[in-house]
Amino acid sequence: MIKIIDASKKFGEENVLKGINTCFDSGQVISIVGPSGAGKSTFLRSIIQLEKLDKGMIEVDNKILSLVKNGIDEVSKRSKRELLLKMGMVFQNFNLFPHKSAIENVMEALVVVKKMKENEAREIGEQMLEKVGLFNKCDAFPSQLSGGQKQRVAIARALALQPEVILFDEPTSALDPESIREVVQVIKELAKEKITLIIVTHEKELALGVSQRVLFMEHGKIGFDFNPSEIDTLEDGDRVRNFFRALA
Ligand code: ATP
Ligand code: MG
Repeated sequence: MIKIIDASKKFGEENVLKGINTCFDSGQVISIVGPSGAGKSTFLRSIIQLEKLDKGMIEVDNKILSLVKNGIDEVSKRSKRELLLKMGMVFQNFNLFPHKSAIENVMEALVVVKKMKENEAREIGEQMLEKVGLFNKCDAFPSQLSGGQKQRVAIARALALQPEVILFDEPTSALDPESIREVVQVIKELAKEKITLIIVTHEKELALGVSQRVLFMEHGKIGFDFNPSEIDTLEDGDRVRNFFRALA
């Protein structure tokens, strides 16, 4: 479980996160939607410590990952490391190493972070690529893969570390329709597992079809927090409904 208390962050004079309080239950699929500039990426990046909050607390499985007061985090890097191993992240632009093959991309963290032997890491890498339907692309380089295939390698890479939680920041936004379908399908399969998925997305099928919970963020806050089956009856929810209607 991830618990977030009073997560606050400014960029310059702009309050990008305005004291967010929420909890993510284990095994759930949660989508985060909302207009551009709402703070969705900043929120996600703060959870996995790619951005530092100005103020607030983040707990993972009842252990404190981050406790920031006046811009100073009281939790040491060393203490964070173990908790951060429970989380993986998938980015809009894949962030693969271009000079490494698919399997090498997936193995990298196993060898470097987990100090695993090369042959062991390769075996897990192959299993993970198989899981995302890319066993036959083990030796392909990112430049030889389609967008959907690159994103599936990125998902395999996140899965290799056996995280409890995967954070996705617009995983399908850089993709053509065919690739979107591929990646949505892989995420749908993951949704059946115990893993927690937190997905910033503009993809209706993910937000309304796969998630158990949708957070609508605007102006650095969670404006609505609902079960997608309730969207038609959501009180004062016209903004949310219009937002989804405007999506393709
Ligand atoms: P989008 O849907 O366009 O991805 P978002 O909801 O993910 O938007 P963020 O990227 O979190 O929004 O940005 C929230 C606000 O913070 C924006 O006004 C953005 O310009 C600002 N911002 C984000 N990152 C930085 C940064 N590194 N430095 C300064 N301002 C930033
Ligand atoms: Mg964003």
